[in-house]
Amino acid sequence: MYLGDDITKHFRTSEEQKKALARLGLKTIRDMLYYFPVRYTNVSEIKLIRDASIGDTVTLYGRIGKLKTRKAFKSKMPMGEAELEDSSGRINIIWFNQAYMAKMVHEGDTVELSGKIAEGKNGIYLSNPELKEKNALPIDMHGSLFGAGSEAAEVFGFPIYRETRNITSRFIYHTVQKILKSGLVQNLEDYLPNEMLAKYNLPKLSTALVWMHAPQTENHAQSARKRFSFEEVFFIQLARKIERENYLENKSFPVNYNPIDIDDFTGRFPFKQTRAQENAIATMLTDMAKPHPMARLLEGDVGSGKTAVAATLSYATIKTRPDGKTYGNLQVAYMAPTEILATQHFENFIKYFKHTGISVGLITGSGCRKFPTKVASAKEPWTAISRTQLLKWVANGEIPILIGTHALIQKSVKFKHLALAIIDEQHRFGTMQRKKLVTKEGFAPHLLSMTATPIPRTLALTIYGDLDLSILDEMPMGRKPIITEIVLPNGRDAVYAFIRKELQNGRQAYVICPRIDEPDPEKEMAVQARSVTAEAEHLRTSIFPEYTIGILHSKMTPAKKDAVMEEFSSHKIDILVATSVVEVGVNVPNATLIIIEGAERFGLAQLHQLRGRVIRSNHQAYCYLFAETKSEKTADRLKAIKTAKNGFELSEHDLALRGAGELGGTKQWGITDLGMEAIRNIKMVEAARAEASALVTSDPHLTDYPAMKALLDIKKVEIHFE
Ligand code: ADP
Ligand code: MG
Repeated sequence: MYLGDDITKHFRTSEEQKKALARLGLKTIRDMLYYFPVRYTNVSEIKLIRDASIGDTVTLYGRIGKLKTRKAFKSKMPMGEAELEDSSGRINIIWFNQAYMAKMVHEGDTVELSGKIAEGKNGIYLSNPELKEKNALPIDMHGSLFGAGSEAAEVFGFPIYRETRNITSRFIYHTVQKILKSGLVQNLEDYLPNEMLAKYNLPKLSTALVWMHAPQTENHAQSARKRFSFEEVFFIQLARKIERENYLENKSFPVNYNPIDIDDFTGRFPFKQTRAQENAIATMLTDMAKPHPMARLLEGDVGSGKTAVAATLSYATIKTRPDGKTYGNLQVAYMAPTEILATQHFENFIKYFKHTGISVGLITGSGCRKFPTKVASAKEPWTAISRTQLLKWVANGEIPILIGTHALIQKSVKFKHLALAIIDEQHRFGTMQRKKLVTKEGFAPHLLSMTATPIPRTLALTIYGDLDLSILDEMPMGRKPIITEIVLPNGRDAVYAFIRKELQNGRQAYVICPRIDEPDPEKEMAVQARSVTAEAEHLRTSIFPEYTIGILHSKMTPAKKDAVMEEFSSHKIDILVATSVVEVGVNVPNATLIIIEGAERFGLAQLHQLRGRVIRSNHQAYCYLFAETKSEKTADRLKAIKTAKNGFELSEHDLALRGAGELGGTKQWGITDLGMEAIRNIKMVEAARAEASALVTSDPHLTDYPAMKALLDIKKVEIHFE
């Protein structure tokens, strides 16, 4: 058996099981070994037979006897039967369709069984229990490591794995146990160096795998989890560090700016820059003057003024004059996640650039535009042009700034000298996309990634390990902070009355709900959350009948969403009831009110982002967090949002109060639940970062670490770096 072997080569699996394994992402023996338990049954969960009642899911511990197998009377289904005895009594055991279970133990063995108590013709029984045999675990493999005390702890836990249809936790358990017993694991070479393991007190690979799947003590399980969560963060950082080194090896178009130009450009802003903006611009201009590309992340809350920074750097780039070392005709690409946002950036850039005579292009799925134009009107200072025409002007350098969606990095879009790429809110702008920006001659643009997504420092250090960090930690002066109130159920009417007054003054409101539709009462009795559709109906009929109410949610088509946003933006809609899709959204300055229903269901950072929708105006903005709970504690958690200085601070609160699960995990960041455990631990993340960094510095191609390099290549696919 080898790690790279298909599971099906060694384990008999039905077609359904093959499909199910694929759904879980399990193909090879290695995948199976790295499919970790989500939890362990615990000694404290073990019940006495006497205390087990019908319907309970229990873990029982005792001696097994009366083992037999038979076929069911009518159906001929093979069944296993037994009896379990503990100090308090006896209970029958039935394994339906799993006669083999009765053959896996011997009369008189002490076992741990987990299953459901059911009632049959012959009284109560334990149905289809999981089985953990005494001494079934390969404890003697690592003698001294397991050490003393294993006897007392041998009932620590039975691993429980995430299941899917046709693949039970038990199937995984048995498969993994067989792999562990095959001898494969003892001989595995550890890809982490011994010194690293010793330094952080981590178990070596073979030990950690056994401890993960068959822990004798809670400490073993924890040690193993610590190793693998460290390892995951380490490998992500290692990969990012290597990506970074590779990117920096490219040539750049150095930006040879003239400070007087920059002062003139920023001097025309209708506001004074914040100190944070000035610092960020200065740092980045220094980076961009170098012959190797910048790779930097600019973090700043919504409204902190990232666009002004982007515009200034763009201007500096375009004003670069050829001087023997540097080129002229430098260009800027500015990529946004959606069409609406790209269009909004285009409109903002027109304002920043209209005095300069510099052309700005827009490219999205639904068409292209160019500014300036001879046929400008007050409403539309730009003109629609054909894609072919736009691409021609981009290719010959006549359009120095191109703004767009992903359409920007398609093959057909050729720049003359792309010197700066600005990426707005795209967390997964990875290696692959970056490669597309590198020319055949080895020129890569300076890269500026911008985000308002509040995440804790540990997560940022990990996923943005390839980027230098600049932070806009200061809001523009004179901006009125949003008045935020936590509203308990009895306070609703007063808030509605206040909102009516604001609507009468011509303002608009968002109402955010946690769900799209009413919950199916059969399925989700407990879910009381207000749904978008039901809430819109309720507001329309009972609260604000005199106002126009629109809805917006994630199940609508992009075109429909755009249309609704447009109606809201042009004030054809007064109240927009929406799910959190408006989170990364559009600027509607006249919308100064936001109600968040079921606020206790959201993380603080997410609430903060939602609230950011109403920050754009000179009018006072209000945010009402409607909590459905009466619990003081829940309301207490929400209070942090009234005092926190920014979203990043709130994301730290979330991490501390609600755990890493709050942050999105695999889906959003490509980090497993186990890896997210490391995210809670700044020391661990910093250690992993330091190690990855030192390693890449001393051995950039991992020549001395072939096992690590091999695994990195496998993991790269898993973690979806590309
Ligand atoms: P972000 O992209 O960071 O959310 P924007 O760049 O869109 O923020 O800026 C939000 C608003 O604040 C814009 O209307 C912009 O003109 C304005 N703004 C930017 N910087 C400042 C500043 N230093 N002082 C006052 N207003 C500013
Ligand atoms: Mg922005």
